[in-house]
Amino acid sequence: GDAAGNITSRNVDELLGGLLTAGMDRRSCRSRYESSWYYKHFPYTPSTHLLGKLRAYEARHRRCAPGTPLYAMAVDRLKSGEAAMEECRYVVWLPFDGLGNRMLSMASGFLYALLTDRVFLVALPPDSDELFCEPFPDTTWRLPLEDFPIANLFNLGPNPDVSLTALLNSKKIVVNVDGDNATAATPLPAYVYLSLGYQMTDGPFFCDENQVVLGKVSWLLLYSDLYFAPSLYPIAEFQDELRRLFPAKESAGHLLLRYLLHPTNPVWDMVTTYYNTYLAYAHKRIGLQIRMFNFASIPADDLYNQIISCSQQEHILPETDTEVAAGNSTAIFIASLYNDYYERLKVRYHDGTAKVDVFQRTHEQRQATENLAHNQRALAEIFLLSFSDELVTSGMSTFGYVSYSLAGVRPTILLPAHGHKVPATPCRRAVSMEPCNLTPPRGVTCRGKGVDGEDLARHLKVCEDREEGVKLF
Ligand code: GDP
Repeated sequence: GDAAGNITSRNVDELLGGLLTAGMDRRSCRSRYESSWYYKHFPYTPSTHLLGKLRAYEARHRRCAPGTPLYAMAVDRLKSGEAAMEECRYVVWLPFDGLGNRMLSMASGFLYALLTDRVFLVALPPDSDELFCEPFPDTTWRLPLEDFPIANLFNLGPNPDVSLTALLNSKKIVVNVDGDNATAATPLPAYVYLSLGYQMTDGPFFCDENQVVLGKVSWLLLYSDLYFAPSLYPIAEFQDELRRLFPAKESAGHLLLRYLLHPTNPVWDMVTTYYNTYLAYAHKRIGLQIRMFNFASIPADDLYNQIISCSQQEHILPETDTEVAAGNSTAIFIASLYNDYYERLKVRYHDGTAKVDVFQRTHEQRQATENLAHNQRALAEIFLLSFSDELVTSGMSTFGYVSYSLAGVRPTILLPAHGHKVPATPCRRAVSMEPCNLTPPRGVTCRGKGVDGEDLARHLKVCEDREEGVKLF
């Protein structure tokens, strides 16, 4: 059925059970109200605790956002280098890596702001302007770059001398651990840079005692390309709160992404026009996201064969000789930088008895994260994938992680061809719809204990597609 038909038949709640706040302007961000028409799944109703937390967050954001007296005061203090106990404390998100990575670190950073009563602001370079709507009512999440006192924000990289680890090493932050109370012995810096990217420079961030000290720093600059939310679970002071926010652990990323990231109207137009033209007619939509990393590249024929044997193992794509009941059609939507797989699947279903159509919106050939229009097309494809009934995604790809998590689908994950060898097992069913934290703080010790030792069994599982990674389940 088409999207419009689905509204009445499934009686979709357009605000997703109160996850999205009512009364925001529809016209300036249509996707916020319309995306529920298109999603096929909404498996987890948000908890009342999460709803309360979000509404309180929104009120705090309005009070502390750029343009308010409290914000002006906090910026003044930052300028003068004072560390004072502010009413408003901030997490400033900085861009790092591709769009999927960015969306995941935004969701994680926002969760951290929720847990620590901070305000989440984003420093957007031109390539990321006009991708997402303002998520919070009657305010802005954009950091005004012109009068922000820290220079060169976009080029500080993973190891600036204000990173948490550098500050700990140089004893500019000294933590006195006294039982469960940690205090800073020296005056705290005005801001701390958190380098939580794949290099995981600031692993000590995940130690309880450092969290206590960081709580006293007004400005945290977050530089990450990871979904680090799973690694917040082992931190003692967050555990109860996380359990109440997300009674089902695998719903965390799903609900955070659906709450926070809404495509702007130009992106939404691309999404809906394409969906209504090509995908709406089908009874079943299967999303296929194919990412080939340089470190795991194999010939297109080999990857195609891997996809087919995965499909046979997991019974995903229709077999070509399947007799299909009249009108029982399947649309396969492919997202990939290349058109090799589209071409091959097209041939596979050409003249078959199965009623299958194959679609691909773009094939960009190469990543171009510095280009806004390229990112807009990539975002449109992430959303088109997220409207699938079922998903096959590529291992270790954050682009795929965001798609299935938004979709609310436990995907089938194609395993990466490590060492350029076709993996013996083509794919695995995911244990949850959570994105993988590809680089958790492994080996980091807090007061002599490993950060995620015992919690690995309780909250976290090793990722299907990466032994070093962890995910909630
Ligand atoms: P990851 O590298 O797979 O983890 O995902 P990222 O999204 O972080 O970075 C990959 C980037 O390459 C994307 O953001 C896009 O810019 C581009 N890209 C990769 N795959 C696709 C695709 O299927 N469609 C489009 N339009 N762009 C893609």
